[in-house]
Amino acid sequence: MTIHPVAAFDRIGEENAFAVLARATQLQHAGKDIINLGIGQPDFPTPAHIVEAGIKALRDGQHGYTPATGILPLREAIAADVLRRLSVEVSPEQIVVVPGGKVTMYMAILMFGEPGAEILYPDPGFPIYRSMIEYTGATPIPVPMREANGFGFSAEEALSLLTPRTKLIILNSPANPTGGVTPRAELEKLVKGLADRPDIAILSDEIYGQMTYDGEAHASPLSYPEVADRVILLDGASKTYAMTGWRLGWAIWPKPLMAAARKLAVNSFSCVNAPTQFAGIAALNGPQACVSDMVAAFDRRRKLVVSGLNTLPGVSAVTPKGAFYAFPNIRGTGWKAKPLASALLEDTGVATLGGPDFGVHGEGYLRLSYANSEENIARALERVAEFLTRVRPQ
Ligand code: PLP
Repeated sequence: MTIHPVAAFDRIGEENAFAVLARATQLQHAGKDIINLGIGQPDFPTPAHIVEAGIKALRDGQHGYTPATGILPLREAIAADVLRRLSVEVSPEQIVVVPGGKVTMYMAILMFGEPGAEILYPDPGFPIYRSMIEYTGATPIPVPMREANGFGFSAEEALSLLTPRTKLIILNSPANPTGGVTPRAELEKLVKGLADRPDIAILSDEIYGQMTYDGEAHASPLSYPEVADRVILLDGASKTYAMTGWRLGWAIWPKPLMAAARKLAVNSFSCVNAPTQFAGIAALNGPQACVSDMVAAFDRRRKLVVSGLNTLPGVSAVTPKGAFYAFPNIRGTGWKAKPLASALLEDTGVATLGGPDFGVHGEGYLRLSYANSEENIARALERVAEFLTRVRPQ
């Protein structure tokens, strides 16, 4: 007899981005020149005024526990941000500050997942959705995100998958890994379609909500009074303010779920570390040019990466409308996605992820994060082009 975790842990998954990051770092230490288009985090440092606020909080003696849901001035700043950007009034009493956006999806899926329940989630999509759904014993129901649709969400397709057992529907726009953005018209169709299903909650992952291009507007289900009272809005500072390592996320919770969310916080992390919360106040209440400057840089790289990808033999890429990912179709190369991603890393030092890391509908695609310099993107594309002409598919 040996010790082992309960059976539910056999169903819990991984995020391969971290495994690829580890392998890329290992190759780098061995002397290989690595260009990392694998991990999804801004390559910019956290803006200086935010860093200073965190340091000041430490110097000022902010070393203790805070309220489990987060300090009030941060929750007020989050409520003001939601009002400014989405024109929706929320109370700081509906907000829970968490160590990273991921924690909100963990909480929400725990609240609705159980054997017999069905949870809809985007596929290809962020891998933790499916992993956590399976952990709870609920049935994961993938909503395909289709290239023909620009990887935009189809309300009709999602609504066709509802059953009396559906408990939660997960939305993600702008989307990881595709860069797809849900058109407002599709969101409206979904809202209408859910009118007679008040028993279904919506988890709206808007962690890339400020990263849209070509004048594309970000739309949130929280803006629709018909469903707002059952929307869990997931957001955070990781991507918007280049703060992935600080671990700062937050969510707007429907009032009936607030007690459960607070109790989960108390039962797990107690509170987000205090200096990070003060840095979050500086991020939200401070100048926002750091966000628009970063998005403008991503936009230039987006154009570079898409035009470069479309010149590669056997590769075609739709233009992503948000986030900082491209999701090129690589079927014409003759390669399967994961062997190609792995060969590219080992042979050329270019780290990418295979589409299947994001779900059953991800075969035939790679995910490239263009949160890297224009120079590195150009060098990576050159290496991939050379590789595809030199190496036959395996
Ligand atoms: N949601 C999506 C769609 C993401 O891509 C990520 C991170 O990559 C997260 C949530 C989690 O963000 P955080 O690092 O704040 O936990």
